[in-house]
Amino acid sequence: MPCSPQRRAAAPRSILPTQFLRFSVTSDQLVVAAGLFWALAVNRPFFIAAVRTQSGSDGWPWDLVLALVVLVASLHVLITGLVSTRRSVKPVLALLTVISAFALHFIQAYGTLLDPSMLRNALATDVAEASELLSWGLALDLALYAALPIALLSCARLEPRPWRRALLSRALLLAAALATFAGTLMWQFQPLAALMRNHKEVRYLVTPANVLWSVGSVLAADARGAAQPRQPIGLDAKPGPSWGQQSKPRVMVLVIGETVRAANWGLNGYARQTTPRLAQLPVLNFADTTACGTSTEVSLPCMFAPVGRRKYDEAAIRGSESLLHVLARAGVAVQWRDNQSGCKGVCDGLPAENVTSASAPGLCQGERCWDEGLLRGLDERLQRAQGVQVLVLHMLGNHGPAYFRRYPPTFERFTPVCRNDDLGHCTQQEIVNAYDNAVLYTDHVLATLIGTLQARAATVDSAVLFVSDHGESLGEKGLFLHGVPNAIAPREQTQVPMVMWWSAGFGPGAALDRSCMQRRAAAPASHDNLFHTVLGLLDVQTALYEAPLDLSRGCRPD
Ligand SMILES: [Zn+2]
Repeated sequence: MPCSPQRRAAAPRSILPTQFLRFSVTSDQLVVAAGLFWALAVNRPFFIAAVRTQSGSDGWPWDLVLALVVLVASLHVLITGLVSTRRSVKPVLALLTVISAFALHFIQAYGTLLDPSMLRNALATDVAEASELLSWGLALDLALYAALPIALLSCARLEPRPWRRALLSRALLLAAALATFAGTLMWQFQPLAALMRNHKEVRYLVTPANVLWSVGSVLAADARGAAQPRQPIGLDAKPGPSWGQQSKPRVMVLVIGETVRAANWGLNGYARQTTPRLAQLPVLNFADTTACGTSTEVSLPCMFAPVGRRKYDEAAIRGSESLLHVLARAGVAVQWRDNQSGCKGVCDGLPAENVTSASAPGLCQGERCWDEGLLRGLDERLQRAQGVQVLVLHMLGNHGPAYFRRYPPTFERFTPVCRNDDLGHCTQQEIVNAYDNAVLYTDHVLATLIGTLQARAATVDSAVLFVSDHGESLGEKGLFLHGVPNAIAPREQTQVPMVMWWSAGFGPGAALDRSCMQRRAAAPASHDNLFHTVLGLLDVQTALYEAPLDLSRGCRPD
């Protein structure tokens, strides 16, 4: 131990640096010191964001900055003062310091706001995802903002005090912190009220309170959800009349893309042709499609729910069954195939499988597999197909920040690419190049899927509906990755590609009218359309179906 007092016996006369560092404090002093440290060391992004909202003011509004520093410090004194005792103060402060260092790194590196939905993403992160976020930049931030202060903390010797005195002292500290907080709030009330009214999102930069608040929100929501079983929906779902008339099996493949944004989609007119194979196929491109959310955790459950974004209710969506359960109830054979972080409850209780190195040999590196693994065994499945089937393929797609790991080397056509998991070490062009190569690979996987279905079109009627879960920021406005709260999210994160293809015989009763569908594809669409379009295309009848949201409505016989 660097600050061990036992060493004094061995060197009684010399003042060792380690002994020099040893100091006595009360737990209250530690709480105050930690509050000041976090306010001054890890909240720079919060202060900068808050100052930027003060449009029209000349120079730095120093009064406001001082008020924010005092508010952040006193808030954390209040929090840690309430939850820590003499015994627990060191572990509590150490843990929060580590959390703060991680938070600061991700806020600075990616422009992340640590709100509940971002924390839900973080808590759902698997080992493969987490390992791609490790970088030297993170190690440096952890060393500076966690290891150093914790080393200093370990040198502190806590003064023993009678419990009555300790309790009184803590009560006085909390009262002083509360008074400071309230007094500062009143001092700068006007600008602070405007800040919280017009730029609420900046509070998710207050570190580490943002992490504590968001983790608490997620756990409370999950506890409420766990207390109730998933509510069944579409209990009246049944096959429509076309089911009795069909002579061939009908297979619909829903491909859920990952992090592909509309702006870099070749079919949408992007300056680079990132979708050369799809461009050669008779696919329908919905060029103006809006995602339900800016993260997988929000978008995935939302797009499979009847209410979508227009009546968004996270608790109701998470607490209810999905489109897939409704389809299964009507007799559709549903299968989820995952090459990412799971179906987020959408396929609970339904057949599901993962792409692994065993199921996709030659396509995996460590825990990650390329998306062609999703297509393995598809032809055999088509040969055996009966009745009406839905196969959901959940892609790894353009999952960041390691875009360069998302495609085999032969797809590296745009160069030079960013080969660093820490995007801060690359130029924006290198990042975009790697991202675009990953889009090229998604184009290849989709075209290969369509080719496989087309080759069996004589015996199986089939369709593909591809839609990405959300977009991505590639450095625009200083933002990277995704997950900015929906209300303030940039278009790069909300606009996604959506593509449809169907075989000549596909459609309830008769094939879809292509020119009619082309007219519909020219109009805006969103994730809200998915639920109702799939019901319509597969002729599953339920009171949940809303005809105006069915993209194929009016383009097929009723
Ligand atoms: Zn996603």
